[in-house]
Amino acid sequence: MGSPELMDRVVNLAKRRGLVFPSSEIYGGFRSTWDYGPLGVLLKRNVKDAWWRSMVQLRDDVVGLDAAILMAPQVWEASGHVATFTDPLVDCRNCKERFRADQLPASGACPNCGAKDSFTEARSFNLMFKTHVGPVEDAASVAYLRPETAQGIFVNFKNVQTTTRRKPPFGVAQIGKSFRNEITPGNFIFRTREFEQMEMEYFVPPDDAARWYEYWCQERYRWFVDLGIPESKLRLRPHETEELSHYSAGTSDVEFDFPWGWGELEGIANRADFDLTQHAKFSGEDLSYYDQESDTRYVPHVVEPALGADRATLAFLLAAYEEQEVPNGKGGSETRTVLHLHPRLAPVKVAVLPLSKNERLVPVADEIAAALRAHYMIDVDVTGSIGRRYRRQDEVGTPLCVTIDFDTLDDKAVTIRDRDSMEQARVPVNELRAELDGRLAL
Ligand code: ATP
Repeated sequence: MGSPELMDRVVNLAKRRGLVFPSSEIYGGFRSTWDYGPLGVLLKRNVKDAWWRSMVQLRDDVVGLDAAILMAPQVWEASGHVATFTDPLVDCRNCKERFRADQLPASGACPNCGAKDSFTEARSFNLMFKTHVGPVEDAASVAYLRPETAQGIFVNFKNVQTTTRRKPPFGVAQIGKSFRNEITPGNFIFRTREFEQMEMEYFVPPDDAARWYEYWCQERYRWFVDLGIPESKLRLRPHETEELSHYSAGTSDVEFDFPWGWGELEGIANRADFDLTQHAKFSGEDLSYYDQESDTRYVPHVVEPALGADRATLAFLLAAYEEQEVPNGKGGSETRTVLHLHPRLAPVKVAVLPLSKNERLVPVADEIAAALRAHYMIDVDVTGSIGRRYRRQDEVGTPLCVTIDFDTLDDKAVTIRDRDSMEQARVPVNELRAELDGRLAL
């Protein structure tokens, strides 16, 4: 399948099956904002849970935080966002469309109307959304919707460090919404103006920063592989010197082979002591750390892996999507669409399917579903042929289907059908839970 086609198919599937809808659709949409539907909210939550599990739950050196979206405006002065969180903006004089100057094609032609050398001089455009706090809309009441979650962590460094009595190296992880007034949003949920980030700030003694930076680059790359993205679709790309922020001692991006080419999934940056030093300067608080053992005081350096939950969700969807030709049982073949999502990410883990709507089968199916519901996200589907119901589950990535048939009434066994191999196995009902647990390996 060609790449643009793959993107169309995935967007289409997302809309058709309630993964992702265009926002405010009944009003014609609101450019480039998206709403997650019943299955999409499960998928994105699973992506976030997988991140939280690997970054917080499975480690003893990282704790969590949930900071406010609205913060004191001085935060964004200190962080440099007020002065420098800008993109260079140009207008096409011919069609009036706006573009980021750093994303124009080398040919110099307008990507919208094709006019040559039609661009205005580049102007700096600040990406932060401004709002006012309180009833008076004057300069003193300006506040910003956070353009990244990281600053909430830096300003809480001391609170977290003292309350948890942590000693560097330790990290603080956070998941939450961020807002950027992007000039050119697009590519579905890849670049939007409202999105969710999953960021972790890892505070380390200055001499150890380079080592931890390498560690986190490898660790974060591995996370995507472990959740099923093939290595052929992933790469870790170190930034060239001229790409680096002035304070960065090293940045690498985990990139994914999107249908339009390689694009950033996650950035891992060695930010040195920039953030804590800036906040110490602007707030007047001492944000250094006193290490009793060595009797030294230092400002911790920071290694930051920063990932977008929406962008990651898109990458998992694209990597999982496949159309296969399979026998249709009538001697011919048909196309089956399947999302090979990792079981941890799959919105629904197990579908419970009575062979028909028969009044003896449905209550048994309901009883089995009720028993499983406490443990996994379950779907019960009774309508349509069993083949069609398997296809419906395949295309939203449900790893396992449990079918209840007339034999179940006598032998107290059900059929488990595997999404990827399509193989079926008979399992006694009283062993079902253990069997599902083993297969899902959550
Ligand atoms: P880009 O170069 O694509 O604009 P960035 O380098 O500005 O991204 P960071 O500031 O490093 O991005 O943000 C960390 C992560 O947050 C990105 O890797 C991406 O996954 C996500 N992200 C950033 N901007 C957006 C956006 N507008 N929409 C969706 N996700 C985003």
